[in-house]
Amino acid sequence: MYCPKCQSENVNTQVINTVVLKDKHRGLIWWLLIGWWWIPIKWIFFTLPALLFAIFGHRKQKAVNKKETVCVCQNCGYSWKI
Ligand SMILES: [Zn+2]
Repeated sequence: MYCPKCQSENVNTQVINTVVLKDKHRGLIWWLLIGWWWIPIKWIFFTLPALLFAIFGHRKQKAVNKKETVCVCQNCGYSWKI
């Protein structure tokens, strides 16, 4: 492995694990088919949890682990992703 900046062979490779919070999005088709009646029904039958959800501002989020391999040149400090 060579550094693309200074052509040094003194390159350190490390795997970085980053946690990305992803919003769970509903598609347009979901809203057209289900969302318009499901949401009112959900509110009628699950008013209390729905209110609690609204109060605490709960958002459906999904933690996604993203593994990235990053090379760091020990000579010039240049870093790049593979
Ligand atoms: Zn370098």
